[in-house]
Amino acid sequence: MSSAIWLRPALAAQILDHARADAPREACGLLIGRGRAVELVVPARNAADDATRFFRLDERDLVRGVFDAERRGLELIGFYHSHPDGVAMPSPTDIAQSYYPDAIHVIAGLRSAAPLAAWRLRYGEAERITLHVADQPPVAPDAVGGRSVRLAVVIAALLALALTIAASLALLPPAPKIPVP
Ligand SMILES: [Zn+2]
Repeated sequence: MSSAIWLRPALAAQILDHARADAPREACGLLIGRGRAVELVVPARNAADDATRFFRLDERDLVRGVFDAERRGLELIGFYHSHPDGVAMPSPTDIAQSYYPDAIHVIAGLRSAAPLAAWRLRYGEAERITLHVADQPPVAPDAVGGRSVRLAVVIAALLALALTIAASLALLPPAPKIPVP
């Protein structure tokens, strides 16, 4: 597996701008690209109930982002989110609620001296990934190249969406009885 992700400075700035604009809410979005080279940073809505402490990527934004990426010949590499009042390290909740073992997570910690860091979160553990912020890709030839997380994401997002719909249907009042003549 690769151990580096490449982000151009303009894209790193885009993540930080989003993080600052949404503070005190946590900002989140998608990292779209090829292998481990990020080509696009796509903001998404934070659907968490308490968005100042947590993030949950809006499932519709997630699915739309994956399909938009494929239309451009790109893939979903991972996600970013911010810690408006914290550092660029995953929280216990981030680790516990990471459902995509192949995804890279870039965290923007606005209280960190180095506000961006990349992580792989899986099996209850956080592994720091080299975040290469530069106009040129990293020199090591194997440093870019990874697995798409598309299938897992699409399945999980569609499931979550189905559950949301099922839950809202369950909240509907019962249908009125039709009188029998
Ligand atoms: Zn977090």
